[in-house]
Amino acid sequence: MDLFTPQYPTEFISFGSGSSGNCYMLRRGPESVLIDLGVGIRSFKRYLHQYAVSPRNVRAIFVTHDHTDHVKAVGKFAAEAGMPVYATAAVHEGMRRNRFMTRKVPDEQVRTLTVGEPVEVLGLTFTPFPVVHDSADCVGYRIESPGFTFCLATDVGSVTDDVRRAVSQADYLVLESNYDIAMLATGRYPQRLKDRITGGRGHLCNDDTADLLATSLKPGVRHVWLCHLSEENNTPDLALKTVTSRLEKAGLQPGEAFRLDALPRTRPNGFCTLD
Ligand SMILES: [Zn+2]
Ligand SMILES: [Zn+2]
Repeated sequence: MDLFTPQYPTEFISFGSGSSGNCYMLRRGPESVLIDLGVGIRSFKRYLHQYAVSPRNVRAIFVTHDHTDHVKAVGKFAAEAGMPVYATAAVHEGMRRNRFMTRKVPDEQVRTLTVGEPVEVLGLTFTPFPVVHDSADCVGYRIESPGFTFCLATDVGSVTDDVRRAVSQADYLVLESNYDIAMLATGRYPQRLKDRITGGRGHLCNDDTADLLATSLKPGVRHVWLCHLSEENNTPDLALKTVTSRLEKAGLQPGEAFRLDALPRTRPNGFCTLD
């Protein structure tokens, strides 16, 4: 039974974004939903306390994919607080195999998603779409309420039609901008890792993110957050500059027409009201 009451605005917060741990929350009044829970359980609980969110009022966890930086605390928190965990069958299987996920999702809390099939929680409709990435499977989410469409795509190996469509539908958008090509090329990562990142099933570089935004953003988009920035091969300034200059060439003015931010890697960004 959905206890959603419409007087509450929807708010978005990131508790961490990047290879040290990813976790996003949508909140409506006292109730909330998570997308990924890859930050440490103790930090996460501290954040809940700090923002006055009760663990028992977290109604669901939606998972993008089974890499540890997205799922580390999913099993532990789900087992303690008892909410359903939504992921594709392959991602659930990947979580069962992930040895860094020390607690598993209890069987009765497993909910299996199919791409393209919507699920409604808190009056928000979550529709997963496919994302190419080198995990067992990966999805992004289009989240709709009567007032807005919020889309999230992280760990984007390649820009596909599905990702492009999500970008073009979003009033609010969280999109990966992982690395700067030159920083990665000249950086100290081993070649094998560099190849993994750039090889079409890894991560999205600033230039590709910038191009995607410049060619596909919806007119009237309200806020874009760049996410999953690399600590080693990117800086928030560089990501924002690359995206801003490409958008300006396309005649778009971030800061005036809409807000553009880079999400902090290891701390919350504060709640932002969506409608
Ligand atoms: Zn990741
Ligand atoms: Zn990943």
